[in-house]
Amino acid sequence: LVRLRARLSRSQNALGRGLLAVLSRDHLDEDAWEEIEDSLITADVGIEPTRVIVERLRERVRVLGSRTVTEVREQLAEELTAALDPGMDRTLASTKADGPAVILVVGVNGAGKTTTCGKIARVLVADGRSVVLGAADTFRAAASEQLATWGERVGAETVRGPEGADPASVAFDAVKRGIDTGVDTVLIDTAGRLQNKVGLMDELGKVKRVVEKHGPVDETLLILDATTGQNGLEQARVFMEAVNVTGVVLTKLDGTAKGGIVIAVQNKLGIPVKLVGLGEGPDDLAPFEPKAFVDALLD
Ligand code: GDP
Repeated sequence: LVRLRARLSRSQNALGRGLLAVLSRDHLDEDAWEEIEDSLITADVGIEPTRVIVERLRERVRVLGSRTVTEVREQLAEELTAALDPGMDRTLASTKADGPAVILVVGVNGAGKTTTCGKIARVLVADGRSVVLGAADTFRAAASEQLATWGERVGAETVRGPEGADPASVAFDAVKRGIDTGVDTVLIDTAGRLQNKVGLMDELGKVKRVVEKHGPVDETLLILDATTGQNGLEQARVFMEAVNVTGVVLTKLDGTAKGGIVIAVQNKLGIPVKLVGLGEGPDDLAPFEPKAFVDALLD
């Protein structure tokens, strides 16, 4: 939580800054409410979620007769937390009784898939689990090298194919290796060429089908770059059509002043944000906890 707070405030969070100014007034008039709305929209919360949050907040402030900055802020924090659906299950399906849990990692190029695979492997290994990494992003030349470097760094075996190999066959081999060596988790990194939507969907569909010859995919994580803002939501839909996304990892939250994008993602996609990326290093991955996140956002 301390790191989350440091990382978010380092990016000079737009929401906290904007709101502090408005809430320090002694009277919340129409202008003030508009500014609260603007702050939320500027922070990428999204127009629809913002409208709902502000409406509910106004009603609460009216009913409770809240006056002080602290009171209103507390109620805003509660509304933002509620908008993040705190009851959702955010645990990662990383083990199962009969063989390795299979996690498919999807998203556009540059979103942070390979890095996130490495970071997740690190968390699992540190937790005493064994991991096989599958380098099924055979499109980007350096991707498999990059994943293997992460594997060495965190102590996980990486299964790679020759350059230009069929991604599905590498994924198949990785799961087979995971089964043969009895590991807990197989993490599969995939390619994300969004410029060719049909090709991408075909490829991901095939990877999934081929992997399922070994057994079901237990988790499909969509990696979204927080700095792409609302555009990321459009990309997300393409992936959701191609595969059954079960969780979102929002990366590069350290590089944006618009942390509110988490609320938009959670609201519009209806899929739990499970992890957040807060930097390029191996320890820069945190489980997503709505309340702690909102506290850091309003800090
Ligand atoms: P991929 O193409 O989706 O596999 O993306 P990569 O894993 O290669 O990441 C693209 C770039 O984003 C790399 O330079 C990563 O170091 C960087 N990156 C990934 N996650 C984060 C993050 O949470 N914060 C920051 N600041 N950079 C990140």
